Amino acid sequence: MKRIIYADNAATTRLSQRAFDVMTSYMLDDFANSSQPYSLARNAKLHLKIARQTIAECIGASPDEIFFTSGGTESDNWVIKSSLFSRRNIITAPIEHHAILNSCDVVKQLGIEVSYLSVDKSGMVNLDSLNQLINENSLVSVMLANNEIGTVQPILQLADITHSKGALFHTDAVQAVGHIPINVKQLGVDLLSASAHKFNGPKGIGFLYIRKGININPLINGGMQENGMRAGTENIASIIGMAEALKENVETIDHAGDHLRNLENKLIGGIFECGIDFIRNGIYQLPGNVSLSFKGQPGEGILHRLDLKGIMVSTGSACDSKNTQISHVLKAINLDENYAKGTIRISLGKDNTEEDISDMIAAIKSIFDIKAPGR
Ligand code: PLP
Repeated sequence: MKRIIYADNAATTRLSQRAFDVMTSYMLDDFANSSQPYSLARNAKLHLKIARQTIAECIGASPDEIFFTSGGTESDNWVIKSSLFSRRNIITAPIEHHAILNSCDVVKQLGIEVSYLSVDKSGMVNLDSLNQLINENSLVSVMLANNEIGTVQPILQLADITHSKGALFHTDAVQAVGHIPINVKQLGVDLLSASAHKFNGPKGIGFLYIRKGININPLINGGMQENGMRAGTENIASIIGMAEALKENVETIDHAGDHLRNLENKLIGGIFECGIDFIRNGIYQLPGNVSLSFKGQPGEGILHRLDLKGIMVSTGSACDSKNTQISHVLKAINLDENYAKGTIRISLGKDNTEEDISDMIAAIKSIFDIKAPGR
């Protein structure tokens, strides 16, 4: 069988063995509905309570500030759409995930004013533009780390400016939770979105952190699950899998970060030594997030050639039959079109090895040698 090198961890990660083990035992043994009063259900309720505590500890929150959702998209939709009840305007950034951008488009049609912070060529938001746009009726939503180019934003400063005007601050931390140390109190955020499948947990589960004292409307009405904020029988197997995965990642966060930085440096150094013309996008990137823009070949072509060699990466541009569409993030950072069209995102994970990196460098080299014989 062909060796597979998975390097698309920003899209999703492999479920951790520890998470899988706790989930199966829950599904087969302690499967009862946690709202029921008998003893089997009390076990389920206990699992739910412990999972909430674990997640809260991992991000410096209290358990009653954690609300389980189906993932990052749902958490982001909840925050943005709740603005309809309590806010007049939203300030966000053009590099956000579509879960934010498309939700903003919906609330805009319903009368909420939406404005966008300017970003520089590294994807860093401009703090002065926040100062100019904000007022006490604002909800500010800026992602902690960008999924395409990895740029980590100055969240504490953005939250400080927001609070100095009496406004609310949300961060989409879907790419960051479980990968860099996060403490919601130190970050100063009011709301934070996270998703388990980005940190080796199961798919279809995530959470929204809502700081105590922040009033946002319930997302789903029905029973009293999630304190009446998000009704519906809880997905406990996935919730405990998420808690286990997050705990495991937080326990090994420094080691994983060093490992990924080492791989990243070897990858970039190796490609550079091949004499290939490329730009690395972003600044202060998340460990392992390597967005590279190559001149002379479309990203989609590079992706498919790597796929043929068993290497899974992502692209920052997509071809239709006539044109190459450049992603909204690469457009927002004003990347030269000649490079933007040739963008791939290699997102390394803790399972990647130095051997993977050597194979990736060799594969990229061979792709460019085909196009440029005689180099
Ligand atoms: N926000 C960011 C920054 C993401 O990268 C993603 C997923 O790629 C999402 C939100 C959506 O998360 P989910 O897949 O859990 O709905």
